[in-house]
Amino acid sequence: MNIHTKAVHSGDRKRAGTHVPVTTPIHTATSYFYESMEQLDRVFGDAEKGYCYARYDNPSAAALEELMCALESGDAALACASGMAALHTAILSALTDRRRSIVAANAMYGTTVGLLMNVFEPSGVSVRFADVCDLASLRAVVAEAQPGCIVMESISNPLLRVAEIDSVAAIANQAGAALVVDNTFATPLLARPLELGAHFSVHSVTKYLAGHGDVLGGVVVTLRQHADSLRALGRTIGGVLGPFECYLTMRGIKTFPLRMERQCANACHVASWLAAHPRVERVYFTGDPRHPDQATIRRLFPPNLYGAMVSFEIRDAGREEVFRFMDALRMIVRATSLGDVHTMMLYPVMSSHRELSPKHRQRMGIRDNLVRLSVGIEAPEDILADLEQALALG
Ligand SMILES: *Cc1c(COP(=O)(O)O)cnc(C)c1O
Repeated sequence: MNIHTKAVHSGDRKRAGTHVPVTTPIHTATSYFYESMEQLDRVFGDAEKGYCYARYDNPSAAALEELMCALESGDAALACASGMAALHTAILSALTDRRRSIVAANAMYGTTVGLLMNVFEPSGVSVRFADVCDLASLRAVVAEAQPGCIVMESISNPLLRVAEIDSVAAIANQAGAALVVDNTFATPLLARPLELGAHFSVHSVTKYLAGHGDVLGGVVVTLRQHADSLRALGRTIGGVLGPFECYLTMRGIKTFPLRMERQCANACHVASWLAAHPRVERVYFTGDPRHPDQATIRRLFPPNLYGAMVSFEIRDAGREEVFRFMDALRMIVRATSLGDVHTMMLYPVMSSHRELSPKHRQRMGIRDNLVRLSVGIEAPEDILADLEQALALG
């Protein structure tokens, strides 16, 4: 089935006694009642299908998890309280029975770098960074570090590099490592990492999947071989998604492929307009024919869908000029996050990559004049008009 169809139908219409609701209700019960202790015992022991306690599983979460398995071609999923909770749980699951060593992409979401360096490393997991877009250097780092797990993003944040997920998966498999891909930016419309050989695909559903700026959540999708460890970790750590957020996320996902197509088309307009603007020094966009990973993008992503993030550097600007430009925006929302129906702009130095030292940011190529635009579903001429007047004023 096409992803547009799966997004609308998967996970819903489970029989609840005498009736079948067309969409999945918000199941708020924390525990479940059975007629006999014998039956409850069977449910606890997994000998009979059923729910017993909301931290273990819940019908609202199960519906979302089934939907995410359909979208990502996975066998099992876990809905988590946030994207970070999902990444934490996925990496723990990936490292189960594997060497306590991680090789991570050197261009990633700032808090993910924080998770690796401030949570995993102090707990005795060695962490090495590598350029996943340079397969030769990645192979060398993997040979040396012997990782149990490789972590990367399908489109990196905020400079929008795209590595060959299938080739990285082959390197991981050869080394006996599990590959965890944060697929938040590409979404399953552009890339399905499990089909390309990855072991875990992780999302912050806060972004494109829920898409309306009203849910914080995450999800891990994986293969059968990791299903038990993922579920057990979810139960033990307990960072699971609440039923109301599961409902909002499913509601959002029904229109996610439509929204994403529009957002990708709008981003193409905005990126080429910005590239021709005299105040713009440089544009980073996955649809740019001169993008360094253009061959990979054409090979891995569907035609005409390049993603909906556009980063750009303002000529001769520092923090003060960037602030003035962003303060001049009238429609575009100045806020952290991305993927929402409204166009948003953030300043990575101040937000997503704030926790990193200036030297670390400089090494990652994140300059003080860089802003990141998440293009929404508005009419493209209104987005351009707002950028135009703010660039003129700021
Ligand atoms: C937002 C984001 C996260 C973290 O997700 P939360 O839902 O905020 O916890 C992780 N990775 C990427 C690429 C993100 O954009």
